[in-house]
Amino acid sequence: MTSSFYITTAIDYVNGKPHLGHAYEKIGADVIARWRRVMGDDVFFLTGTDEHGSKVEKTAAAAGMQPKEYTDSLIPAFKDAWAALDVQYDRFIRTTDPDHAAAAVALLARIRDAGYLLEKKYEGWYCDGCEGYKTDKDLIDGRCPDHKSLEPKWLEETNLFFRLSAFEDQLLAHYEAHPDFVLPEFRKNEVLSLIRGGLKDVSVSRSSASVAWGISIPFRPDSVIYVWFEALINYLTGAGYGVDEERFAYRWPAVHVLGKDVTRFHCVLWPAMLLAAGIPLPLQIFAHGWVLQSGEKMSKTSGTGVEPLAMAQRYGADPVRFYLMSQVTWGKDGEFTWERFEATYTAFLANGIGNLLSRSVSMAIKYFGCVPEGPADPSLQALCEEVVAEATQAYDQLQITDAVNSAWRLVRECNEQITVRQPWTMAKDDSQREALASFLYALLESLRISSALLSPVMPGKCAALQDALGCERDRERTGAELLTWGGLQTGAPLNKPMPLFPRLDTLLAE
Ligand SMILES: [Zn+2]
Repeated sequence: MTSSFYITTAIDYVNGKPHLGHAYEKIGADVIARWRRVMGDDVFFLTGTDEHGSKVEKTAAAAGMQPKEYTDSLIPAFKDAWAALDVQYDRFIRTTDPDHAAAAVALLARIRDAGYLLEKKYEGWYCDGCEGYKTDKDLIDGRCPDHKSLEPKWLEETNLFFRLSAFEDQLLAHYEAHPDFVLPEFRKNEVLSLIRGGLKDVSVSRSSASVAWGISIPFRPDSVIYVWFEALINYLTGAGYGVDEERFAYRWPAVHVLGKDVTRFHCVLWPAMLLAAGIPLPLQIFAHGWVLQSGEKMSKTSGTGVEPLAMAQRYGADPVRFYLMSQVTWGKDGEFTWERFEATYTAFLANGIGNLLSRSVSMAIKYFGCVPEGPADPSLQALCEEVVAEATQAYDQLQITDAVNSAWRLVRECNEQITVRQPWTMAKDDSQREALASFLYALLESLRISSALLSPVMPGKCAALQDALGCERDRERTGAELLTWGGLQTGAPLNKPMPLFPRLDTLLAE
């Protein structure tokens, strides 16, 4: 039975081209989405952009543009980068989309009807950089520590507030009943101590006089929905909330993938908003770490940004995806350096799986002309079964790096066994013909299974690998049918592959 699987990324604030940090999150979510497709689920993958608020309004004005005109001009950079990196989303949502305005207003009205909105006067600091309220304690020398170049402004506004403080107990109860609600666990513990420290009500409206660029609140003249509150609602919009209730009932709840810097909004405010509206909470929230360069978070402003589009064009999507998913442990921070990127390419891809494919297929063609016959090699079969179980469990727990590492055990073992058993020597001895057939079958079948496990991370190269093994039909197979030993058919034709991962000097010379 196919079941619905709905996954989202955080939506990116549009203030420039995406950098590798943005790409990391999209690729991670894409890998999980692709894994669920491999397992036969009916997947819906949502990503997009966050486009309202005073920051966009000001940047657009400075560029002499209307806000929508300005954000329109930046969208292609995101879409082109995700296309180049093979990020296969089902919808690219923009918070300027009409159905999002409908969903945002519908949710706000529902929270109001449930009695969780109240009028309050806000007096205090506001940082345009964060689009957030600041206390004296938050400021250092009168400035927001994250936006030292901006002068915080003093705001006095009567706004609608969401009674977040009413949800401490319910949130804690949900966390207790669902120990995997937020992953990794150390992030969950940070969130729990935040909740236990006490929650304050949050403003959910801004006067149109101070921010005009937002979604108007029909039941409150001259106000727009506060951008953070509104942006979160995109996850409901993507599932059809407020527009298509049948689709919403089928799609919701979601698995959310987002950065460790926005857990406060996603793991506290967002579930409280849903509780207030009587909507089921997300299935799971995964907070990933940062891609660091020389120990610093990648960002456009720090000037360290590596452009993912250019990188994908130079090396192909899959090496970039593989590096990020294997070397920047999913859930933690990790480094990006060009040296390490190229070393990973050579060791794992060119000399690792690429070489294994080329050697195994070449020998099978040379000695047998097709997928050879013979009982499977028992040692590799046992390892395969172990690796499939391990990788499946890791993927299901959203531990992408662990899943890749498991699959890699198989690739490494195959290469080692080739070195030890020397099939080219076996080929010279007629009495070893059956053993040779069996060993080569085991190598090819191990490759087929590793490529199925790695296909969420390297979709293009694993499809090429399946072609080389003559098992294009694997693309139609799912779940156990795909991952069970023996899927490769004896006698099937093999195609001598082009180098799957050419050496870097060849690749970059092209
Ligand atoms: Zn700030």
